[in-house]
Amino acid sequence: MIIACLDLEGVLVPEIWIGVAERTGIEELRLTTRDIPDYDELMTRRLGILEKNDLGIADIQEVIAGLTPMDGARAFLDTLRERMQVVILSDTFYQFAKPLMRQLGWPTLFCHDLEIDGDGKIADYHLRQQDPKRKAVIAFRSLNFQTIAAGDSYNDTTMLGEADRGILFRPPENVIREFPQFPVCQGYDELAAAFDDAAKAIEA
Ligand SMILES: [Mg+2]
Repeated sequence: MIIACLDLEGVLVPEIWIGVAERTGIEELRLTTRDIPDYDELMTRRLGILEKNDLGIADIQEVIAGLTPMDGARAFLDTLRERMQVVILSDTFYQFAKPLMRQLGWPTLFCHDLEIDGDGKIADYHLRQQDPKRKAVIAFRSLNFQTIAAGDSYNDTTMLGEADRGILFRPPENVIREFPQFPVCQGYDELAAAFDDAAKAIEA
């Protein structure tokens, strides 16, 4: 049995923080791990920015509810779920992803968790574990599943390397150059075909 492990942002939905930055007009929220490589430091900065702008979880969820999955994402996901089990492995938070998961038909999502205080403000965040995408693939293997993983960015490469097959979807140039071992897909038809090829190779 094969489990498809899909990254969320950049594969099925747009980058959530960029969407929030655009819709709130708060430019500082555009900061990514490219600007601040340490994820803990980056998240602390982001939560500080939300607090400074008096934004609670309901405000952010309303903004995120205005985002939509990428064109063709839902159809791709639905077709893939007929073919194999699908788990989305993401570095986002359940409370942020929820409005987008509704639009994707509530697929299984493994991500992180926010702590919301009594006033609806984001008090803290909790990362489920370090390197969670790769750890999930290792765990699936221990359950006798094989895995095909797809992602768009650096934070996916350990998962892609750990999986039986790894696929890059619309990655930036530097990721393509640095990880030539992974096939690159630009559209959902191509990605669906790559999953099919990988599954056939694994099942052969
Ligand atoms: Mg991504």
